[in-house]
Amino acid sequence: MASGRRFLGRHFEKEFAIVAKPVLFTVDDDPEVLRAVERDLRRRYGREYRILRADSGRTALDSLGKLKLRNDPVALFLVDQRMPRMTGVDFLDEALVTFPEAKRVLLTAYADTDAAIRAINEVGVDYYLLKPWDPPEDNLYPVLDDLLDDWRADYRPPFEGVRVIGDRWSSRSHATKDFLARNRVPYQWLDIEATDEARQLVAEAGRSEPKLPLVVFPDGTYLEAPENLEVAERIGLRTRAERPFYDLIIVGGGPAGLAAAVYGASEGLKTVLIEREAPGGQAGTSSRIENYLGFPKGLSGGDLARRAVDQARRFEVEILTPQEVSEVRVEDPYSIIKFADGTELGCHALMITTGVAYRRLDVPGVKRLTGSGIYYGAAMTEALSCKDEDVYIVGGANSAGQAAVYFARHARRVVIVCRSDDLGKAMSRYLVDQIEETENIDVRLNSYVVAVEGEDHLERVTIKNSVAGKEESAPARSMFVFIGAAPKTEWLDGVLERDERGFILAGPDLSRDGKRPKGWSLDRDPYLLETNVPGIFVAGDVQHGSVKRVASGVGEGSVAIQFVHRYLSQV
Ligand SMILES: Cc1cc2nc3c(=O)[nH]c(=O)nc-3n(C[C@H](O)[C@H](O)[C@H](O)COP(=O)(O)OP(=O)(O)OC[C@H]3O[C@@H](n4cnc5c(N)ncnc54)[C@H](O)[C@@H]3O)c2cc1C
Repeated sequence: MASGRRFLGRHFEKEFAIVAKPVLFTVDDDPEVLRAVERDLRRRYGREYRILRADSGRTALDSLGKLKLRNDPVALFLVDQRMPRMTGVDFLDEALVTFPEAKRVLLTAYADTDAAIRAINEVGVDYYLLKPWDPPEDNLYPVLDDLLDDWRADYRPPFEGVRVIGDRWSSRSHATKDFLARNRVPYQWLDIEATDEARQLVAEAGRSEPKLPLVVFPDGTYLEAPENLEVAERIGLRTRAERPFYDLIIVGGGPAGLAAAVYGASEGLKTVLIEREAPGGQAGTSSRIENYLGFPKGLSGGDLARRAVDQARRFEVEILTPQEVSEVRVEDPYSIIKFADGTELGCHALMITTGVAYRRLDVPGVKRLTGSGIYYGAAMTEALSCKDEDVYIVGGANSAGQAAVYFARHARRVVIVCRSDDLGKAMSRYLVDQIEETENIDVRLNSYVVAVEGEDHLERVTIKNSVAGKEESAPARSMFVFIGAAPKTEWLDGVLERDERGFILAGPDLSRDGKRPKGWSLDRDPYLLETNVPGIFVAGDVQHGSVKRVASGVGEGSVAIQFVHRYLSQV
């Protein structure tokens, strides 16, 4: 599949939904004629079309490059044949490479049979018009009306969002697509290997060897191999806080963080939520959440995230994304967080809802090919590219099961590689049933990946069956890994108490031999969901002993707000 589209993103649509009028482009080296053509075109077609003019073929070609970058359509060229340096036919020959659907009319002062024959043979000219055309009602408009009706009949409005031109196997291209999709920004993917349009856009940008991905915005400007933060700033995502101090800072925009934000802000707390990738967290990557209360038919993680973000924004939560918090320090009674770029924000109460991140597959070669055929999580942006291919899913719990069912709709065959001898051991029954009922899913039990191969992208996977002791190697271009997850909380070293696996301790779990945590200064025990630092709370998967469900994260996020209020009423 060469191209794909993603929709949604209301805040985005507001900024970019400028529907460009199709262009009527006229080219003539005689200034008087050029003005007359433009005047006549504007009079009749100015409401529906944009009239552009140029006094030479070369100038016109430069403008066409800009139109192409902005994805503005050209409906018709009306071009003088006899121009110095570049004739009308020569101009059309080049212009049609960029706008092959445009109608072509050649203007000439006298009958020039040779040019007419060339024009028809070489550039498929639609009409050969003799100057002068007065009155236009008789000699110009009937011809153009007819051609434009024809053009409109086949016209498909161009895509008006961001276009990403890249290479399917580039991890940087994958990161950009994933970032846009997870932030629900409409974009069109153009594979440089597979589409002429992609190569043309690169040429229009004037690059022979551009750094990919090239991210082209609706105004025709572009960024080469940008960081997500640069893209975020260009598309209007909020990346900087409005103020230096908040009642509540929430770090992590998964279900727990979003719930805390909604409850906190709706109850009057000035709240900012900081998310390093995209709001929704792990849940946002789920193709179908079937067990969240109130959605009997299930809903996709993307939908859940969108609803939660809309709700949080309605209560005026500031959502900063992509921004990563890399440090926290306590200036009693305030907490100060630091971003990766060194800037800081302060707050009365801090909530950590950073969840867990996928555990890495420790097999030689995997690290090098990550993002180039090997992905952690469902990477739904890659689903269309897997059409008619075999997809490998590594893991045996619910997230792997959901992904298998999802990819089975796109791929030729899905192979689940599961260490245990029974899929039902770690996967919900409804998913096991769905997998058994899906013809193009193969399950390899007692199996694990022992090798991956590929030059610049995944080409082959070797699986070992631990019972039979046999290895099987097969060509593979896509492998999605779901082998559990772990918290990433090193940045809290020296501040918050954690268990040996990095999960944050809170409430009663902090008590040792009936004693309050070390350094605890208050004359009360830590509240449920309060850490060893008064005023710093935790919710969701990152908490020690967490249930690891969307509903429990949402529940804890809302409950924690009650303790935030109690804490604030005492300081
Ligand atoms: C594929 C998949 C399918 C699932 N399906 C279901 C299901 O059907 N039903 C169900 O109940 N549960 C499901 N789960 C589990 C559920 O999604 C999680 O339990 C839930 O998302 C946990 O929410 P959370 O807010 O605690 O953390 P997370 O969802 O992990 O969110 C944490 C967020 O914090 C951000 N973050 C981390 N560190 C920082 C930092 N330093 N600075 C800024 N941001 C940071 C992360 O980017 C992330 O967005 C699924 C999980 C996965 C992966």
